[in-house]
Amino acid sequence: MNQVLPSVGTIQISVKREDLLHPHISGNKFRKLKYNILQAKRQGVRTLLTFGGAYSNHIAATAAAGKEYGFKTIGVIRGEELFDKIVDNPTLSFAKSCGMELIFVSRDVYRQKESKIFNTTLQERFGDFYLVPEGGTNNLAVKGCEEILETNDIDYTHICCAVGTGGTVSGIINSASNNQQVLGFPALKADLSGAIRKFAKQDNWALVTEYHFGGYGKINAGLVTFINKFYTETGVPLDPVYTGKMFFGVYDMIVNHGFPENSRILLIHTGGLQGIAGMNKELAKKKQPLIKIEI
Ligand SMILES: *Cc1c(COP(=O)(O)O)cnc(C)c1O
Repeated sequence: MNQVLPSVGTIQISVKREDLLHPHISGNKFRKLKYNILQAKRQGVRTLLTFGGAYSNHIAATAAAGKEYGFKTIGVIRGEELFDKIVDNPTLSFAKSCGMELIFVSRDVYRQKESKIFNTTLQERFGDFYLVPEGGTNNLAVKGCEEILETNDIDYTHICCAVGTGGTVSGIINSASNNQQVLGFPALKADLSGAIRKFAKQDNWALVTEYHFGGYGKINAGLVTFINKFYTETGVPLDPVYTGKMFFGVYDMIVNHGFPENSRILLIHTGGLQGIAGMNKELAKKKQPLIKIEI
């Protein structure tokens, strides 16, 4: 569903509310899991195993999807110190309440999660499982994200999307018309163009790298103010890790003439709202202003 937002000068703006796709399997994570779940079913595997950090939208979504579609789920979580802090962490508590088994590993071990030896150890412990990569990105995930754009979206000149691993924006690039411009807004500092080139079948895209706010999961008071103001003015809730940064960037670019006159911009709301509670806990600890969105 596309929601029309107030125009800024000659520039028209709409938001695709992928955050409303499902109450717990957030926006793009639903798209990314869809064909992987079908594949796991086809292979007759009963367990989904995946990886993520303490506040990962992907961990929350996989746990919820496992519950809904009848899979056992295992989440390998970065940070062994978290094992006795599940109750304090809204994401991990939610995943656990969906039945996900949480395995906590040190950052060193986590870095080797793609290695054969780690995989063998997991197989010995849990038996057969369907492995969903960190962030959920693989060919089947990109295929799912190719279903985000709809026929009528051809009327937009620009499509903007937050970027983590690049899977979601790749799906959008593949399904966009070649006279549309797709802009990805990385939420972290790394160079993600190589990751996107691996999946993208067209070259009508660019990355806008000025709005990561210092790195993954890093925010500042200006971003919180923007998210709160945007929610009050439009009713659209944004998350602090991905969509908040992307929306901030798009509006900043509009003010600074980063889009041509008469552009018609579609912003993809990829969800991620479950992360607000965890971020607010961190902000409260530092006595900083909170994100005023109740989900
Ligand atoms: C995971 C996530 C992204 C990033 O998606 P990638 O496919 O990893 O680039 C963007 N927005 C939200 C809300 C997410 O949870």
